[in-house]
Amino acid sequence: MDIIHHIAYWDSWNKPLKKQLELEHIKYKVVEGPTRKDDFISFDVSESHPYWKQISKLQKGLIGRIKYGDIPDTYFLETEIRNAEWSRLMVENVKKYPQPYATWVTNPVNYDDFCRNCGTHVQARPFLIQAETKWGYFHFFTFFWGHAIFARKMVFDAIQRNHLRGVTRMNLLIRRNGEPAKDIFQLVPANTTRGGFFLEKDIKTSRCRKCGTRKFSYHNRGIMRYKRDPLMEDADILYTQEWFGVGRKDANREVLISNRFARLILDSGWKGVRMKAVDIV
Ligand SMILES: [Zn+2]
Repeated sequence: MDIIHHIAYWDSWNKPLKKQLELEHIKYKVVEGPTRKDDFISFDVSESHPYWKQISKLQKGLIGRIKYGDIPDTYFLETEIRNAEWSRLMVENVKKYPQPYATWVTNPVNYDDFCRNCGTHVQARPFLIQAETKWGYFHFFTFFWGHAIFARKMVFDAIQRNHLRGVTRMNLLIRRNGEPAKDIFQLVPANTTRGGFFLEKDIKTSRCRKCGTRKFSYHNRGIMRYKRDPLMEDADILYTQEWFGVGRKDANREVLISNRFARLILDSGWKGVRMKAVDIV
């Protein structure tokens, strides 16, 4: 497990830092600022890097109140995923938009009980998409909006052959004619846990003033702990009961997959997703 921080700052906030990064062999990107005569610097640094301790101290003065200052993320080794009882399934290949594109964000036509304030919802109908997709190298994708998981037919065929339990395959409809897409389907867990997310100290919570739903901030740093659920005995994929996305207008449940499911993804070499181990306690 390696915890990586994606850090960004304006060059003028800390002129000497760039030099330091060079001395420490940490690569950075420079983007010219859009509205001011200042460069925007971004770099990734692992907590296992010897310079991290100093960076984390420097940052306190460096980043200030800027929201995008430091986003941690956690990467697991393949062996860690192969040994984990359960993992989180994260889609990394982001493309396309749900239809109708112009109104979907304010009026997601396939959702029921959609809360405009916090984004919680029930997906009652299939997503509409403009056309079939060219998959190329990938086997999974997610839209720029929402958190739905889409996969090729071959993925579902393998899921069936391997008797993975608790998987629902949902159609996507081509908007123009209402016909189901032939090689894109939505991967939907049939069941939801009873809840078991551990509230660690860097996790924030919020309660929607409109619908009363509690949300959690995304678990980005380290391994997520989750209470063992009786459904884990009989399923290879589950939604968390918990909603995530504090401070955002959208919300999602995380998708947990069993060791068998994670191994199938790794053994098949499917691309477009990443797994994060979960500590089931
Ligand atoms: Zn709400």
